[in-house]
Amino acid sequence: MKTLKGMCGSAGYGEGKAVIKRRVFLNPPKFAVQDCVSEEKRFHKAQEAYSARLATLEAGLRQAGEEGAEIFEAYRAVLHDEVFFGDVLQRIRSEGVNAEWVLYEACTQLVSRFAAIDDPYIKERAVDIENVCHELIHQLLGAGEFNFGSDSDVVVVAEDLTPVETVKMDKKKIRGLVTEKGGITSHTVILAKALGIPAIVGAKGVLAAVNEGDWVILDAFDGSVIVHPDEKTRLSFREKNEERERLRRLHEAAAEQPADTLDGFHVDVHVNLGDHDSVEAFNSQCDGVGLFRTEFIFMSHSDYPDEEIQYATYSDLARRAQGKDVVIRTLDIGGDKQLGYMNLPFENNPFLGYRAIRLCLDRKGIFHTQLKAILRASAAGNVKIMFPMIVNLEELRQAKHCVEEAKRSLRDDGVKFDENLPVGIMIETPAAVLLSDKLAEEADFFSVGSNDLIQYVTAADRMNEHVQGVYNSYNVSVLRAVRIVAENAARASIPWGICGEAAMDENLVPLWVALGVAELSVVPPQVGKIKTLIRGLNRNNLIPEAARILELGSIEDVKKALREICSCSRRTP
Ligand code: PEP
Ligand code: MG
Repeated sequence: MKTLKGMCGSAGYGEGKAVIKRRVFLNPPKFAVQDCVSEEKRFHKAQEAYSARLATLEAGLRQAGEEGAEIFEAYRAVLHDEVFFGDVLQRIRSEGVNAEWVLYEACTQLVSRFAAIDDPYIKERAVDIENVCHELIHQLLGAGEFNFGSDSDVVVVAEDLTPVETVKMDKKKIRGLVTEKGGITSHTVILAKALGIPAIVGAKGVLAAVNEGDWVILDAFDGSVIVHPDEKTRLSFREKNEERERLRRLHEAAAEQPADTLDGFHVDVHVNLGDHDSVEAFNSQCDGVGLFRTEFIFMSHSDYPDEEIQYATYSDLARRAQGKDVVIRTLDIGGDKQLGYMNLPFENNPFLGYRAIRLCLDRKGIFHTQLKAILRASAAGNVKIMFPMIVNLEELRQAKHCVEEAKRSLRDDGVKFDENLPVGIMIETPAAVLLSDKLAEEADFFSVGSNDLIQYVTAADRMNEHVQGVYNSYNVSVLRAVRIVAENAARASIPWGICGEAAMDENLVPLWVALGVAELSVVPPQVGKIKTLIRGLNRNNLIPEAARILELGSIEDVKKALREICSCSRRTP
């Protein structure tokens, strides 16, 4: 029995007979061609046939309502890259050699150039180009399709898989995928998730460790691949999986229910959204959107997105939410999120620099456009505006003044919006915590941005792996900061929530409930789990426990006490 580790690509559990899939294009033959015009035609024919294949797969996914169709659209765009393939054709002509060889050479050169660039996005795109070339070579060689044989419980083990190979797998037979290469954001992983196939990627050494026909267990929850498991291990994995299934069903059922504690305290469970497919990820089981990170709209454009582009996204989200809250956070760029076209100055301490509301108040044109787009979207749903990184009252007042100006300009143009749209702030700096009594008098709600709050309270960069031990949500200073916010919000009778990662930390949720949190905003897949947890709590019992924990000093003591509370509440029916 051997155990290997990889990264969890698509969560799930599977076991079956290993089928090894090796890449065939590593050594395409090289031969001289006399008639270069015919060779070019052969190349074009292969290109067209592959393009048609991608179009068919794309249409199939769209028809089945499954995600990932756009991946094939993107592959077709790569396939018609005039610069890259123009160069390939030119080389066929000038060197007088066969198309698959030239393609292989051109691909290898391009991929090695990309590999030197330390940017995960570029690396993923290099994989896309490699995949397209690989499949085109396959097409040129006339190689048949990969066959999984007649076995029905199969775990595919490969160096890497292309999206085409992934989507063509027979879902009824495949119990899982393991690849040596690949990252968790690869297109293959996106498709495996869409198809519900458990997948582990980046499992180094797996091809050397597994032989065709070996029995393999794949635990794609924790990234383990077990080769030749003994009976005891098989049994224990099955039990673990059954327990996970039981919890999944429980969470699924709870997601439909309100998050009310046993003694009747209600918490709204919202979702955080903010990447490419964020609007689609809207989870109908949540109580609303607690944080819509608008940066992605700016990051996915090569210049400032205009009011119409922004309005289309915000109003689409507001409509999908069907009357539930949608909290749209204004642009939070700077810090770890940079935008080339903004020409931001170099800073020694970007997290303490020109970011978020500071930037918006300095570049009011960008802010005005965004505020108008958000206000217009408020006619389509229950939209709220939230400002990030507030540190003083002046910023809040200026930002609110900008909202008034945007309203005035819409009124002048006779455009509809919600006149009473609530305006709140993120509490993510120690300054905002200590000033929260005053801020509460002028903000309609608070949302604790714990990701930043922890970094500023503990003076530990959230991106710096060397200080991750210091960056700790269990530091009592962080918890006390949240208590100050809770007390000041309660005094001013405004709701407060949490939208950083700490909102979905199972150990901390009982504490937030004890402190009277009105809303927890979590990533969409966590909604059911957090609701289940809240439904098992008794707030009145937790209040004295929380007070006791806030008097502790060490991180370890806090962790231990919180774990105890958490395991007790899990036992509560
Ligand atoms: C936070 O700081 O907790 C937060 C939710 O904002 P972001 O992670 O986008 O900075
Ligand atoms: Mg933040």
